[in-house]
Amino acid sequence: MSNPYINVELRRLVANRTDYICEYCLVSEVNRSSGCQVDHIISVKHGGSTTADNLCYACIFCNLQKGSDLGSINWQTGELVRFFNPRRDFWGEHFQLNAAVIQPITDIGEVTARILDFNGDERILERQALIAAGQYPSASAIKRINK
Ligand SMILES: [Zn+2]
Repeated sequence: MSNPYINVELRRLVANRTDYICEYCLVSEVNRSSGCQVDHIISVKHGGSTTADNLCYACIFCNLQKGSDLGSINWQTGELVRFFNPRRDFWGEHFQLNAAVIQPITDIGEVTARILDFNGDERILERQALIAAGQYPSASAIKRINK
């Protein structure tokens, strides 16, 4: 099992390259009193490494919901579907932002949005308030949406 410890240098690299936004729901760290955390995309428990290509920046809500999960079941097909991987997937290929709702457009998007609870009532209310304040989506988030 790889060492799960993420040193300061690696932490800084992960935060800087995302411009301090959650790579799942695209909320800026500055808009979260709880901040963001460095997440192992493939958890250490499943053999994921503590290297830049397996780490992403995630808000506490996304990170807590994701935990060590790797994916979920598509209930229409019964298939096991992996989560969106911020290192190899483009956000805009799996999700669309529809006002404050993050709409999944692929199976990968669907399991990710559902398990990470992108559209829970409180999170929609939070995004509505950020949109009204002109703080969501940020310029960095728009780059991911349109890529
Ligand atoms: Zn998030």
